[in-house]
Amino acid sequence: MRAHPAGPRHAEVLPVGRLGAPPSDLSALDPKVWPAGAERREGVLYLAGHDVRDLAAEHGTPAIHLDEADFRARARGYAAAFAGSDVFYAGKAFLSKAVARWVAEEGLGLDVCTGGELAVALAAGFPPDRLALHGNNKSTAELRRALEAGVGRVVLDSFAEIARLAALAEELDVRASVLIRVTVGVEAHTHEFIATAHEDQKFGFSLASGAAAEAVRRVLKHRNLDLAGLHSHIGSQIFDTAGFEVSAHRLVGLLGEIRDEHGVELGELDLGGGLGIAYTPEDDPADVAVMAGELRQIVERECAMSKLAVPRLAVEPGRAIAGPAGVTLYEVGTVKDADGLRTYVSVDGGMSDNIRTALYDAAYTCVLASRESDAEPMLSRVVGRHCESGDVVVKDVWLPADVAPGDLLAVAATGAYCRSMASNYNHTPRPPVVGLTAGASRVLVRRETEDDLMRLDLG
Ligand SMILES: *Cc1c(COP(=O)(O)O)cnc(C)c1O
Repeated sequence: MRAHPAGPRHAEVLPVGRLGAPPSDLSALDPKVWPAGAERREGVLYLAGHDVRDLAAEHGTPAIHLDEADFRARARGYAAAFAGSDVFYAGKAFLSKAVARWVAEEGLGLDVCTGGELAVALAAGFPPDRLALHGNNKSTAELRRALEAGVGRVVLDSFAEIARLAALAEELDVRASVLIRVTVGVEAHTHEFIATAHEDQKFGFSLASGAAAEAVRRVLKHRNLDLAGLHSHIGSQIFDTAGFEVSAHRLVGLLGEIRDEHGVELGELDLGGGLGIAYTPEDDPADVAVMAGELRQIVERECAMSKLAVPRLAVEPGRAIAGPAGVTLYEVGTVKDADGLRTYVSVDGGMSDNIRTALYDAAYTCVLASRESDAEPMLSRVVGRHCESGDVVVKDVWLPADVAPGDLLAVAATGAYCRSMASNYNHTPRPPVVGLTAGASRVLVRRETEDDLMRLDLG
C-alpha cells in the first residue's frame, strides 16, 4: 500500500502560486467568494436560508442556485456607486425573464447582443429604451427587430452595419440612437493590461487606424442616425482602473477630435464592463464605490484637459452582478486517487454547465456542502462526467479526505457565464437555474429533459 505523506494528502504536488497551504478550516466560506446568504448550520451549507440537501432533493443536481437578494444588492450597489451615470447589466452573463425583471426593478439598463437575448428582455417587459444592442455581426433581422421594439441604443461595430442600420431606420422612419464602439488598443485581464497602438481583434472600430473617426463621419451624415456617444469594452475580470485610465484618455482624445472636426460634443461615454469578482479567496477585486469614484475622476480630468464638458458615463457590469450570486450544487459520483498525486472527485455535471475552467483556465473554489467533516485536507481536482480529460470544474482545491459518493459539493461564483455558456455536450440536458429567496426556491429556468433534446432530432 502506498504511504501517504504525513499531513495534508498530496501536499507534495501543490501547484506553485495557484493554491496555498490548506486553510485551517476546510468548511469556511469566504464572504468575498460566497453569496451573502451562504452560511453553515451544524456543518451543512445553507443558501439564502435553504438547506442544500433539501435544494438537491427538490431540484436535483447539478443545479445553479441564484441568490436573488445577493444579485439585487449588487445591482443596487452599482446603481448607487454610479449615481448620475448609467449602469447596464450585461445580459450575456446570465439572462432569464426573472433576471431581466430584477434588473428593471433595480433601475439598471440591460445590454443584449443577440436576437435571443433581445427576445428574453422584451418577453420580460423590460423597458426597451433602457436596452442597448451590442454585437459585431448583428443581422438585418436583429437590427430591424431592435428598431421596431424601440431599443435605446445600438452600439455600432462595423461600416457595413452603419449602412445597414441607416437604411433600416430610413425605411421604418425612425431615428436610431447609436454609440460607436471604439477599439482603443487596451486589453485587460485581471491585474494586467496591455496598451498597444493597434488592435488585432474583431470588435469595434480601430482608433489608431482612423476607422473610428471615419465611422463618426459616416454616422453624422445619416439623418436617421443620432450619434449619442462612444463606447469601449477593454476586457474582463479587471481588478483596478489602470486599463480604464488609458481607455478613457484615448476616448476623450477622440471626443476632442470630433469636436474640432465636426463642432459637436458627444454626450455619452460608455466604458464597458469587465469589473472583476473573487472566484477564490486569492482574488481581490476593487470595491465598486472606489472603482466608480476613480473612473469618474479619470474622465473628469481628461475632459478638463481637453476643455470638454464631462459626458454622461455608462458602465456594463455582467459578471460583477450575477457571478457571486450563483452557486452550483453537484453530487459526487466517484472518487479516484490518481497514482498518489491527487484525488479526482467526479461530479454529475462538468464542462456542459461550466466551460470556463476548460476554456479560460479559470479558477474556482468549492466546499463539501452536505455535511461536516474533520478529515484531513486532500488535494483534489473536481472533474465532470464528460468524455474529455479537460473536463475540469475546479482544478485545485483542498477537500476533506473522506469525501465520498453521494456527498454534495458546492462550487462558488457560478452565476455568470456558466448557464449562459452551457452546452448539450454528450447529450447532457442543461441544468436548471433556481432563484432563492429567504422564503422560497423557485425554478427560473427549468432543467432540460431528454425529451427536450429529442424534440430537435427529427430522425
Ligand atoms: C461581455 C461584455 C460586458 C460584460 O463583461 P463582464 O466581464 O461580465 O462585466 C460588457 N460590455 C460588453 C460590450 C461586453 O462584451
